[in-house]
Amino acid sequence: MRTGLGYDIHRFAAGRRLVLGGVEVPYERGLDGHSDADVVMHALCDAVLGALALGDIGEHFPDTDPAYKNIASVELLRLVAGLMRERGYALGNADIVIQAQEPKVAGYKDGMRRVMAGALRADPADINIKATTQEGLGALGNKEGIAAFANVLLKEVA
Ligand SMILES: [Zn+2]
Repeated sequence: MRTGLGYDIHRFAAGRRLVLGGVEVPYERGLDGHSDADVVMHALCDAVLGALALGDIGEHFPDTDPAYKNIASVELLRLVAGLMRERGYALGNADIVIQAQEPKVAGYKDGMRRVMAGALRADPADINIKATTQEGLGALGNKEGIAAFANVLLKEVA
């Protein structure tokens, strides 16, 4: 078995959709980035890559490459899942923390788990998502952006 940790942060920008964990969440702003800036999906991709000792998503999918402009980040997770399977691993479980002062994401967590599980060919029951505000502290508490942590366990497939 192998474990991996992922972290990502994006700042809010006007005029963009907010996509978290592959699910569009209604909010007055979205996150800024080259892709859809799905901070949750990026943290999960990095956790899986980390468990495989394959670097990070910036190395695999450079933001200077036009192929990834405005790409749905669930596609990146599908590509990462392919690398995982090639190396003989499957998801054991994932635990994810979303740090967002706003918006409230509790009602979207099950949808995120389904999208992530689909991309990883895993069971939604093996993916846990927690959301926390920042109690108004710091840049995230000041609603300047959203951050996410992901921790995964991969198991070797016989
Ligand atoms: Zn990112």
